[in-house]
Parts: sequence; structure tokens; C-alpha cells
Amino acid sequence: MPDSRYIGRFAPTPSGYLHFGSLVAAVASYLDARAAGGRWLVRMEDLDPPREMPGAQAAILQTLERYGFEWDGPVVRQSERGDAYAAVVQQWLRSGLAYACTCSRKQLEGSGGIYPGTCRDAGHDWHGDVAIRIRVPELEYAFVDRVQGEFRQHLGREVGDFVIRRRDGLYAYQLAVVLDDAWQGMTDIVRGADLLDNTPRQLYLQELLGAAHTRYLHVPLIVQPDGHKLGKSYRSPPLAAEQAAPLLLRALGALGHAAPAELAGATPAEVLAWGVAHWDATRIPRVLTLEDARL
Ligand code: GLU
Ligand code: ZN
Repeated sequence: MPDSRYIGRFAPTPSGYLHFGSLVAAVASYLDARAAGGRWLVRMEDLDPPREMPGAQAAILQTLERYGFEWDGPVVRQSERGDAYAAVVQQWLRSGLAYACTCSRKQLEGSGGIYPGTCRDAGHDWHGDVAIRIRVPELEYAFVDRVQGEFRQHLGREVGDFVIRRRDGLYAYQLAVVLDDAWQGMTDIVRGADLLDNTPRQLYLQELLGAAHTRYLHVPLIVQPDGHKLGKSYRSPPLAAEQAAPLLLRALGALGHAAPAELAGATPAEVLAWGVAHWDATRIPRVLTLEDARL
């Protein structure tokens, strides 16, 4: 049944061109939104200028256009949202939920990525080049992902107080993504499974903001035959415009939606329209090998 209240998004980071893994995520979020009669937004996650690749933003949007995606409303850029992030960080600092951390990377070595809470009650001055962390509760967060099933994580034991503003003044992905998803009224997050274990932190931040929890669907990671994942750092050339229809078909196949042979000569828009008409998220596999992805 169409759910016009559905709002979804694709949120690329312009550290490189779109690769096949990001195309799979874009296709899944687009089809899930459109099949529900919902809105689909594009948000540019350009939070980290030093890691941005010049030209990547324009190239990503051009690829999306050439691949037949149509987004609703203007593209939101996280680089323009600094005041909103700063206001929330200030509020949490004042209420004592957030605090300044002066630990060096060296000091944190050996804690296995779980912050030991060193600066929790140190009362460091938060002006200047310090990291800002948010206190986490000694609680387990659990949710049911539409593809990956139940996922649980104890924030205190498995994550620890995490950074919301970095020492260099840049805002952390965790903070920006939750503020923006809430601000833009997202109901559904469809993205790559590499972000699955970020979700409990994001559920916690949603609670702090008094925002509604979103539903989650993490599409399978594509693993190479040796088990290594096709990561974000994997620098690939831009997805070729002439390859749009075949690569969309391949992405659909990877998502458990192999299209009939007649679609071989279709335009990108026709392939996506077929996907909208046949979308059934329960057919998405939990993991994928590169070979499956070549279907
Ligand atoms: N910007 C993130 C990425 O490119 C995605 C964030 C999200 O979908 O929550 O991996
Ligand atoms: Zn510290």
C-alpha cells in the first residue's frame, strides 16, 4: 500500500566517485521509497573537506542523473549545516551530556577502540582544539533490520563515549547524520551494511534529540572471493554513463531482483521503473559475493 509518509534518502560522501557498491545502495533506497509512494532525497555528506575529492560532488550527481534517478527537492549539503550541529553540541556541553576530551591518539591505543572514559569527569575546557564526546548509557540497544535481522550492541561496553566533534573542529558523521535525518523527516534509512554497527549510536542520539526512530534496511556488503569487502576506500573510476542500464540491471540482480531478458535493451529510467513495479525488499540477500554481484 502506498505510504506517502515514507521519506528516504541517498547520502553519498564525496571522497570519491560512486562505485558499484554505492550504486547498489542508491538503487535499494530509491526503489524502496518509490515503491512505497514516498519521497527520495539526496544529501551530500561533505563534512570532511580534507578527505573530499575535487569534482566528486558534481560527478556523483551527474552519475545519478544519467542513471535515471530523480530526487525530490534540492540537494542538502552538510557543509552548510554547521550552525545546526554547533547549536546541539553547545546544548549538550552545557547540560553535561557532552564533554571535552584531550586524549591523544597515542593515549587511546590499546583500548580496542572503546573509549575508557578518561576525560568524563575531568571538566576540561571545551573551547579550543579538543574533541567533544557524548556520554553513553550502560545500555544495550537493539533493533530489527529489515534485511540483516536483529542487531544488538551494548553502548557502554562495546562503544564507549564517542566523538561528536573532532579535535580539528569538524563534526562527526554520527552527529550530522542523525541531526539531518531528523531535520529532513526521514522515516527510512536504506544504506550499506558497513554502517550496521553505527546504528545503535544513532538510535541513542535520536533519543537525545527527541526524534522518532527511523526504520533500517542495510543492503549486503559486497565481499570479494577472498572475503575482503569492497570498501569505500576502494577507488574506482566513475560508473560509465554508457553502462547505466546494464549496471542497474546488475545492481537489481545483486538485490535479488533479476530482471527478465527483455529489459536488456531498456533505458536506465525503464530499468528503474521495472524495479519500482517489482520491488520486494524481502528478496534482498544478507551477504553478496562479487560473483553474485556480477549476475
Ligand atoms: N555518507 C555515508 C557513506 O557514504 C552514508 C551515511 C548513511 O547513509 O547513513 O557511507
Ligand atoms: Zn579523553
